[in-house]
Amino acid sequence: MFSYEEIKTIRKQFPILKKKNIIYFDNAATTQKPFKVINAITKYYCNFNSNVKRSFHFLGQFSNNCLELSRNNIKSFINAKYREEIIFTSGTTESINLIAFCIYKLIKKYDNIIISHSEHHSNIIPWQVLSKNKNATLKVIPVNSECELNIRIFNKLITKKTHLISISHVTNTFGIINPIKNLIKTAHKYNSLVLIDGSQAISHITIDVQNLGCDFYVFSSHKMYGPPGIGILYGKKQILEKFPPYQCGGGMIEKVTLKKTIFSGLPFKLEAGTPNIAGIIGTNKALNFIVNYSIIKINNYETKLLKYALKILSNIKGIKIYNYNLTKILSFNIENIHSFDLGKLLNNHGIAVRTGTHCAQPLMEYLKLNGTIRISFAIYNTIEEIDIFYNSLIKVLYFFIY
Ligand code: PMP
Repeated sequence: MFSYEEIKTIRKQFPILKKKNIIYFDNAATTQKPFKVINAITKYYCNFNSNVKRSFHFLGQFSNNCLELSRNNIKSFINAKYREEIIFTSGTTESINLIAFCIYKLIKKYDNIIISHSEHHSNIIPWQVLSKNKNATLKVIPVNSECELNIRIFNKLITKKTHLISISHVTNTFGIINPIKNLIKTAHKYNSLVLIDGSQAISHITIDVQNLGCDFYVFSSHKMYGPPGIGILYGKKQILEKFPPYQCGGGMIEKVTLKKTIFSGLPFKLEAGTPNIAGIIGTNKALNFIVNYSIIKINNYETKLLKYALKILSNIKGIKIYNYNLTKILSFNIENIHSFDLGKLLNNHGIAVRTGTHCAQPLMEYLKLNGTIRISFAIYNTIEEIDIFYNSLIKVLYFFIY
């Protein structure tokens, strides 16, 4: 567990926390960035800026090396088997859309795709559109009142015609940890592919894609102390090898004539055009940051914060808390108060929380909620901040009562 002094040192590494008098509890939306990440990006532009996969001068070589170093480190971080299994995209959203595009031709009429009721819109809409265009069925695993997946129904939904199951590892609304290992095991008995949306898990839970056995695992750098605009798509090599190019252009070809093109192998085949090189370098530094502090230690510390927040918030009259798995996401509502109003007033106290439906409208509709207030923690948050948040919340609630 981190000591008070360690957290103080960690906080100093985040310039925004020094400059702004803000309590930032919106980490599930995006995390703040440490100097290490910011400086690496600045240093790259000041000293080494150049393109990759095409320029053979020393700057180009440097950029290439950085890109591939990053790829190798990500491979180790999630324990992928081959570096070719790591594809750079612009984010989780693009990764999911890339997979939907690449399996498009393989989906046949009356095939089905399975998602859950608690997915982020990014993991609903691509499958909705694909199913509609291909006359396939989109099946949805229902959740119970505590937002856990109904596995009994999942076992009935899955058939030999299930092509893909796409499920979040941890939900962004209530921090539910889905039983993905069991789902993957069942899915593979039916020869279905499994895509795991790891956006809310990647900076909190140790990921071992070989142990999980998933076919795809996707996440965004900006939710793990890295820059926005970088996504990582892990896919099993034998599956990605069969994928058609997602986009076509520079950096992904062996040979082009006006009649035909021979495409590169993995990973380049799926990475057309100039990538966000500085972002990829920043991602590598973010990864180092997490590894340096240990994901297990980070998780333990965030759990301590969460338990404390749960304890003091549960004293508030009329509060309904939605947190069932002790993950770092805590959603709540206060009776008769709209989340937007509460969020706005907390903002006046310098506290940043997320309000609304969290890009999960189907789930909110099912639960008959017009939104929740969501607080989510990261390594730099403290018990003191939770105390300030609690006191501000009490003051804000007085405003509503009187
Ligand atoms: N899935 C989940 C579970 C998320 O929390 C998010 C981001 N809120 C996304 C997908 C989309 O990620 P991005 O916007 O980085 O593409």
